[in-house]
Amino acid sequence: VKIGVLGGGQLGRMLGLAGIPLGHEFIFFDDSPTCPASAVGDVDSLSSPTRLAECDVFTYEFENVGEAARRIPSIASLFPSLRSLDISSDRLLEKDFFVEIGIPTPKYRPFVGGQELSKAVSEIGYPCIAKSRRLGYDGKGQFSLSSVDDFAAAAAACGEAPMILESRVDFDREISIIAARTQQGECRFYPLVENHHKDGILRFSVSPVSDESGAVRERAEGYARLALEKLDYVGILAIEFFQVGDELVANEMAPRVHNSGHWTIEGAECSQFENHIRAITDMPLGATVGRGHSAMFNLIGSVPNIEQLLSVPGTHLHLYGKEPRPGRKLGHVTLRCDDNATFGKGVALLSAIVG
Ligand code: AMP
Repeated sequence: VKIGVLGGGQLGRMLGLAGIPLGHEFIFFDDSPTCPASAVGDVDSLSSPTRLAECDVFTYEFENVGEAARRIPSIASLFPSLRSLDISSDRLLEKDFFVEIGIPTPKYRPFVGGQELSKAVSEIGYPCIAKSRRLGYDGKGQFSLSSVDDFAAAAAACGEAPMILESRVDFDREISIIAARTQQGECRFYPLVENHHKDGILRFSVSPVSDESGAVRERAEGYARLALEKLDYVGILAIEFFQVGDELVANEMAPRVHNSGHWTIEGAECSQFENHIRAITDMPLGATVGRGHSAMFNLIGSVPNIEQLLSVPGTHLHLYGKEPRPGRKLGHVTLRCDDNATFGKGVALLSAIVG
């Protein structure tokens, strides 16, 4: 099958690495001929009708694919659907969707401009976070308001952009669930992941999470299943939650393979990338069971000493072929171990190396 992927970043690259053994070919539609995915397929422009017409099925690896994506369904199937893409690329529509299907969210209000922000703050209270409705990721376009002292700066930063204000959740931990659904409606779920962010960017993920009674997993799977079914979803869907006690409050979802699922390449029987490709090409899903303990560390801004990294037993290195730049995700390392003691030691070593 020839798969067209909108976007050619590291997610595209890892989709290609998973799909080639299944006999598929890839065309990545990206403006940069040297994008990370160029190592695993052709790269072309979305404005090339002949290259688009070559593809049997389409998917996307980032949400801001723009208007060009609207034409895709008239050429071949697009998975996940445009509806899934539209909902998850607008924080207001996304939160409205969660509420509509019964998934808890932080309190939120849409606003445009200082006057509406003032009203929203009076309804939600401090502390809160203003986020741009669209084009925000990795904490970009977000402004934290701890008290009235932050109001003027936040109002100035938001300008007249369409935003939402949401209450800042005092969470115990952040977790995510990576879920898969086939064209026939079969759903599978990976073990839960615990995520650690700094400056709004994911630093490291650990799976499985501590959850003695299994209650958190049951709740997360229930919510994910609701979202998958309501969207008639095909492919991998990631949902990020704040955990407060035993309760889960949804932060956001991503209609694609997700950074908090990179550990599945080594840490699960069948990776999120392979299962996404299987789902969109109408193949049966592979097992989502985890293998031992996994921890994934993002390599952000610079790549540490590789010899040191790889000398930690159980470590696997993934580099994305990107030029170093501050704040840029250049690669990740995954530590996978069967026994807890080796895992604990490895996590400590890698934390020290990656920083
Ligand atoms: P986001 O881009 O919405 O995923 O936000 C990035 C990170 O900022 C999250 O993973 C949290 O660590 C933090 N954050 C975002 N929204 C909230 C919130 N409502 N309450 C507490 N922390 C938040």
